[in-house]
Amino acid sequence: MNKTFKEIEKHIERAAALQAATILFEWDSETLEPPAAGELTAGLIGSLSAQYQELMTDPGLQALVEQCEKEKGLTETEEGILKELKRQIKELKSIPPKEYRAYKELIAGAVRIWERARAENDFSLFAPTLQEIVDYKKRFASYRAEKGQKLYDVMLDEFEKDFHMAQLDPFFETLKQELVPIIKKLVKENRKPDTSFLTAGYSLESQEQAAKFIAEYVGMDFNKGVLGVSAHPFTTNLHNKDVRITTHYTDSIDTSVFSVIHETGHAIYELGVRDDLTLTPLGSGASMGMHESQSRFYENVIGRCEAFWEPVYERVAAIFGPPLTDISLDSFIKAVNRVEPGLIRTNADELTYALHVQIRYELEKMMIEEDVPVTELPEIWNRKYEEYLGVRPERDGEGILQDIHWSQGLFGYFPSYALGSAFAAQIYLHMKKTMDVEQLLREGKLSVIQEYLRENIHQFGRLKTARQIIKDVTGEDFKPEYYVEYLREKYEK
Ligand code: ZN
Repeated sequence: MNKTFKEIEKHIERAAALQAATILFEWDSETLEPPAAGELTAGLIGSLSAQYQELMTDPGLQALVEQCEKEKGLTETEEGILKELKRQIKELKSIPPKEYRAYKELIAGAVRIWERARAENDFSLFAPTLQEIVDYKKRFASYRAEKGQKLYDVMLDEFEKDFHMAQLDPFFETLKQELVPIIKKLVKENRKPDTSFLTAGYSLESQEQAAKFIAEYVGMDFNKGVLGVSAHPFTTNLHNKDVRITTHYTDSIDTSVFSVIHETGHAIYELGVRDDLTLTPLGSGASMGMHESQSRFYENVIGRCEAFWEPVYERVAAIFGPPLTDISLDSFIKAVNRVEPGLIRTNADELTYALHVQIRYELEKMMIEEDVPVTELPEIWNRKYEEYLGVRPERDGEGILQDIHWSQGLFGYFPSYALGSAFAAQIYLHMKKTMDVEQLLREGKLSVIQEYLRENIHQFGRLKTARQIIKDVTGEDFKPEYYVEYLREKYEK
């Protein structure tokens, strides 16, 4: 191995350790941390983040990177690691250390403020913090914007390379034009399947048992994973031998069941990253959009299929007990595929989902590009919900305060959800040409599907961009038309 690269690896190892510690704190603060820990722990996270930034922007490391670039004999993987490392260094270097730490501490406390505001249905409790976050994000983006580059494009770039407003505006416009008429038609037809058996007061124990069973059935390896509980389900990965997912239990059993399938999709991705990439700058999923494509593929594309449930429905129903045990698989499938424009993004059906995302995308553009003060957001939010989905929130908790993302400083993240669904549709329509997906599901052979995804997507980590993966897998560039085709096929039937 190249000697200089070996030196660089020492830095990478230290950076990975600091990052893993930060991530573990973040996991902890949403699952087990006691309420009073907040402020002191925020200080620890701030310190860890500062050390990380210091390490990554160390002039010695930079000299090594520059030297290594001139040398020969690097493998393709090493070259990829070097390139990503350079990108990360550039990003971290652009932010003055004092500001970086202050921002990290602000974020560490912001989630609690958001939680309280949400619990009290009062956006004004969160607004000053949100404005502070927005101002930081804009300043940070301005530090690394290329000449003439829009600030929101800089933020979008963090989550999905090559998908900027110029691509996303027409993408969302197409979806809106295609989907709104289908939704209106379905609402008019007023097909309301019975869903009462989903909220029949099942015990928490049965929900927990079912969650674990389903996660394992889908492909979660509890030797390398954990299932926890948090207000907002999420996946955390330390490395490819420790990937943690959470779920939340509500009075409707489909919430947890499909959250678990979704998060397991994320976990399978991270667990499938190659050993030589884990704990390097390339050691996680290619992009947020590609990640969402995998979780949504499991949750929606296959997870809501009759074929998926055929081998296990009876066992799952037995875990929950009556009345589910008396409900046919057909009725269950109809219930979990109902189309119903609603207020909550995470409960949205596949058809209306992208419109929830579009509303957030448009609001972010307003905050970042048009300097709309955050205090005006609730009214704009409510108006857009009425316009796009025909429903209007009555309380902030079911409106503007429902998502955790902005309190974590995640701007430009939401579009990944819609892109992920579109990636998943394109990959699925291609997969169907190479294997009988439905038959595999009926036979419970999920491992064959997992192996296909690992081989073609997961193993590469960030070695390839999402766009490159789509091209390599399907032989075509990304085409949102496949998403519309997939939704039409499913819902116009
Ligand atoms: Zn997700």
